[in-house]
Amino acid sequence: MRYSAETIDRVIDFHGHVCPGLAIGIRVSELAGEQLGPPESTDLVAVVETDMCGVDAVQFLTGCTFGKGTLIHKDHGKMAFSFFDRNTGKGFRARLRPEVQNKMGAELGALMKKWAAGTLTAEEKQRCEQMREQAQQYTMDAPLSELFDVAPAAALAPRPARILDSLACERCGEMAMESRTRRFAGQTLCIPCFEEIEQKI
Ligand SMILES: [Zn+2]
Ligand SMILES: [Zn+2]
Repeated sequence: MRYSAETIDRVIDFHGHVCPGLAIGIRVSELAGEQLGPPESTDLVAVVETDMCGVDAVQFLTGCTFGKGTLIHKDHGKMAFSFFDRNTGKGFRARLRPEVQNKMGAELGALMKKWAAGTLTAEEKQRCEQMREQAQQYTMDAPLSELFDVAPAAALAPRPARILDSLACERCGEMAMESRTRRFAGQTLCIPCFEEIEQKI
């Protein structure tokens, strides 16, 4: 492991709890360091195809954040993470291997659904916790090559955020970034106003 126990503790504090998903994020951040170099020496951008727990570890450990525009979420619902170094133009996409994702398989999936529905028995809860603990431990300890398939990035590094004008929505009066406005029946509208009006038609 390239992160110290203290660093891992700080990641857990940041996220709020320990979980298998966070472990995936920790390991994929480690992979980014291995492939592209430490965060201090790179101009890193992360494109994450999931919005689950692991993204918190990516933000904390790689310094790629939503507010800086260096963390981009693509809502594909996949355990896949791309990283680019804008200094060198190098990038890669890592996908959690399906075998790893399926490792705990149907049993844990069924238990988690019951957990969410609040119908777990005490015994099932114990089993569920034990399996999550195992999944997390496995993810923390396994070689990176066993966890992830790594491929060259399919796309170029995302462009740095551009500075755009804001326009006033002609319905609610709120300012919205030009590229996020909609034209409808001759009016410039913000997205929520556009959606409301469009739904009525
Ligand atoms: Zn979590
Ligand atoms: Zn509006």
